[in-house]
Amino acid sequence: MRDLKYNKLLSGLTLSTKIREELRVDLKECLLRNSTVRPPCLTMVLVGDNYASKMYVDFKHKTCQQLGISSRLVSLDSSVSQEELLVVIDKLNQDDSVDGILVQLPLPDHIDKQVVLSRIDPRKDVDGLSPYNQGLLMAASSEAVVPCTPLGIVELIRQVEPNLEGKLVAVVGRSLLVGKSVRLLLENYNCTTIGIHSKTKNPQTLCQMADIVVVAVGHAGIIDKNWIKKDAIVIDVGINKDNSSHTVGDVNRDSVYEQTINLSPVPGGVGPMTITMLMKNTIKLWKKRFKIKTKYC
Ligand code: NAP
Repeated sequence: MRDLKYNKLLSGLTLSTKIREELRVDLKECLLRNSTVRPPCLTMVLVGDNYASKMYVDFKHKTCQQLGISSRLVSLDSSVSQEELLVVIDKLNQDDSVDGILVQLPLPDHIDKQVVLSRIDPRKDVDGLSPYNQGLLMAASSEAVVPCTPLGIVELIRQVEPNLEGKLVAVVGRSLLVGKSVRLLLENYNCTTIGIHSKTKNPQTLCQMADIVVVAVGHAGIIDKNWIKKDAIVIDVGINKDNSSHTVGDVNRDSVYEQTINLSPVPGGVGPMTITMLMKNTIKLWKKRFKIKTKYC
């Protein structure tokens, strides 16, 4: 019952369905108008057999199929060395039939994530995590490939608040994948942002001031109503398992509902939006490569 309470504009499932249909139609039209061009191709690299990672790769593959994007998977054993993985990335960088390369995170401990992400050709860096694309994001360049989760978060927020200018946003968590990148993106929308991490003093007081709170920590229930201003927008990025193995976010929903209905659900909020933005980025890189222009993306 409690799920019925939230503002349905923050349903990532509903918004994703709409955007994916727009992407599918746009791609179909592009291919009709450019009959010599092949469809976009996303290649995912999966290292090891982490259950959640395999599940995410499977979701992404199925969504590619629905939209008319071709997708490939390179599966590597968890014992693969960093050098061997870099050789795989080099080959994909040189492969003309590949438009986007996604390395599924996390990687095993013996592999330096930054070294691997930095090796991806920025023109194929579909998750926008290479230093080059992070630099473009910092420079507020429209050429930046923006990481998928932050893009999805901003799309969700804009459903409720289309004008972000001057809004005060607290972002809890500072990973490259989510927290740091979403702050940069929101600053580019003229928000004022506060970055909160594990060493921040008085984080609750800082969050209470914010019009919008984005939470990406990975601890179930870390945020309750005492952190949230009345009617604030709260985006819950966290994915955790509760004691009954249900998927839950970082926000204590029942408590936060006492302050606001503007809380994105988990599951069905940021998760589907991340996959949708991956599709959008793949098509964007493909269009750029083949110099295809449409009004959509
Ligand atoms: P991460 O790399 O582990 O980063 C977690 C961040 O939380 C760190 O910056 C850490 O601060 C901060 N933190 C830890 N304890 C804290 C505390 N008590 N108070 C304030 N900040 C604290 O995780 P991530 O990759 O950003 O992911 C975060 C969550 O989002 C996870 O549950 C992940 O599964 C989920 N996620 C979901 C999606 C999606 O599509 N829905 C996508 C990506 C991630 P320090 O830097 O000081 O250590």
